[in-house]
Amino acid sequence: MEALKCPSCGSPDIVNIAEKEYKCENCGTKSQLSKDNTYLVISGIPCPDCGFLNQSDDKFCGNCGEKLIKYCAKCGTETLLDRKYCSNCGNSTFNMEILKSVVLKPGLRGQYQKIYVIKLLRNQFDLDLIEAKNVSDRDTVIASGITNDEALLLKKEYERLGAIVEIKASIIPLDPIIKKYNR
Ligand SMILES: [Zn+2]
Ligand SMILES: [Zn+2]
Ligand SMILES: [Zn+2]
Repeated sequence: MEALKCPSCGSPDIVNIAEKEYKCENCGTKSQLSKDNTYLVISGIPCPDCGFLNQSDDKFCGNCGEKLIKYCAKCGTETLLDRKYCSNCGNSTFNMEILKSVVLKPGLRGQYQKIYVIKLLRNQFDLDLIEAKNVSDRDTVIASGITNDEALLLKKEYERLGAIVEIKASIIPLDPIIKKYNR
């Protein structure tokens, strides 16, 4: 095997910092052994936006500021882009942003709000009067597992109809009464 050289500056002055990981004493670049263990490649996370190679624990791209974080699809834990498994629950599926749910707030007793909400629920979800009245008494998840943009659109739509709506981070998938927005 040839002497290992820094893939950034070519200096042979490199130190082993972890298993198969090296750091250049000359320029500070971190690198790792190639698959066949014959040369060093710069280690890091390529930015999904501009391709800049960031240090593997950077949370934002050093070139364009893009977020280098993803979220566990199961428990919502923030995870660095290059990790294959969630450090909290071991799940291996991720979302690029934390997903949201949209909650319809109950109407206030004796006020217009409650009548609006009941009307809305009956029209939108085909509920009968009793069902709609029951639903209007509690916080009702009308969509979950959607992106922030989708949640904002839905919130706007409902507020236009006179309802009070709240957006929450949905770490645990909730059971929405609207299925069409649920992924
Ligand atoms: Zn170097
Ligand atoms: Zn970038
Ligand atoms: Zn997790």
